Amino acid sequence: MRYYLRTLGCAKNVADSDGIGSLLENAGMRAADNPRDADVLIVNTCGFLQAARAESLAAMRELGESKRAGQLLIGAGCLISRYGAQVKSDVPQVDGVIDAGKWLALPRFIEHLKTRETFKVSRSASEVWFREAYLNLPREQIAARSVVERLPRVARGPSAFLKIADGCDRPCTFCIIPAIKGAHHSKTPDAVIAEARELVAQGVKEIALVAQDSTAYGWDLGQRDALAPLMEKICDEVLGERRGDSRGRPHWLRLMYAYPGHVTPRLIETMARLPQIVKYIDVPLQHAHPETLKRMRRPNSVVTCQMLDALRAAMPDIAIRTTFIVGFPGETEKEFETLLQFIEEQQFDRVGVFEFSVEEGTPSATMSDQIPAKIKKRRREQAMALQQEISLKKNQRFVGKTLEVLIEGAGDGVSIGRTYRDAPEVDGVVIIEKELPAGEFARVKITRAVEYDLMGELED
Ligand code: SF4
Repeated sequence: MRYYLRTLGCAKNVADSDGIGSLLENAGMRAADNPRDADVLIVNTCGFLQAARAESLAAMRELGESKRAGQLLIGAGCLISRYGAQVKSDVPQVDGVIDAGKWLALPRFIEHLKTRETFKVSRSASEVWFREAYLNLPREQIAARSVVERLPRVARGPSAFLKIADGCDRPCTFCIIPAIKGAHHSKTPDAVIAEARELVAQGVKEIALVAQDSTAYGWDLGQRDALAPLMEKICDEVLGERRGDSRGRPHWLRLMYAYPGHVTPRLIETMARLPQIVKYIDVPLQHAHPETLKRMRRPNSVVTCQMLDALRAAMPDIAIRTTFIVGFPGETEKEFETLLQFIEEQQFDRVGVFEFSVEEGTPSATMSDQIPAKIKKRRREQAMALQQEISLKKNQRFVGKTLEVLIEGAGDGVSIGRTYRDAPEVDGVVIIEKELPAGEFARVKITRAVEYDLMGELED
């Protein structure tokens, strides 16, 4: 049997999809590059924001419309966790849904859908369909740590996301993730090490650690400040002796999704000291005005500035990526101006700006003083325009310099790669006018810079 898997949403979903792929291949299925060649079509959806939900539904509709007789279409992931029962009326071609916490049951679920007699019968009553098609296994049974940790990983390129924890205990008033994913739960260090080993053995050169809050790693295992020793262990036991490519350059270890109040001195010292850890951090800040942050229930800007100063003092060349939300309920022009000023002052390397999205079930959905869509759009465009200027200036400083680039792919006489300043999927790339093998590190002299990407030529 062959499966086609489409992934929407964030890096954590990409990591889940890697797990889904491994799980299905372990169950004897093979991946298909094209939906036409698959027996089972799976969409790993995102339910985080309204726009992401629309995109997930559109992907299911597109696959549903071209679905041929005998093919199964399954919706999986976060959107399903929130709106699984409604999906059948939105996309009637969907045969079954399975939520984010239960994807480990996917092989059994596919079997169930394939064999049930009613499979080809079209049922209009979505309630009946839902009861039949939804495998209602207890979340605890499916999410049991031992099951998750036994799952082998199949690498799909030179970079891989490694999920060290899932769920979140933070109280951010705009976020539905804790309701979808539950409380923060960490993988054990042994499980993380085993997964990192599997990835490296398959040729992965860059591991990006992800979680909803990576910096809360280990808290639920009774350990505070456990991320730094975990990263050190990965460097020592997995990346230490081995060399990343044929020229002996080290592998990369990257940290994503840190929480501002949880970046500790020990973590900063470890990041600065170990050569395998790229000098990069993704730390979503969401806003800069004290009142907005208070309504968001996020750490205040004093904590944030102290953290940014400490990171830069320890690693002067660190690339900092962050995200902001504009148009949060009650955000005044003055509050927004403070955010712009903060972006200007801090000169971040990478910034994502999102318009506030009303998420049913979150405290911010019922807050008074919701901001009109037009204003949210204008504020996002303004913040993005400012960041584009900063980003261009920052990129231009690299023209004439030589950077190490991890090659991700090549064709038509050019290669695409990334420097330490760029995380997979979300940041910029370097374009090199020569075809190089994927997974090699190359020294590239930068010849041109645009807002997000760099161009260069091979130095050696
Ligand atoms: S820390 Fe991130 S995932 Fe957790 S509640 Fe806040 S925004 Fe959501």
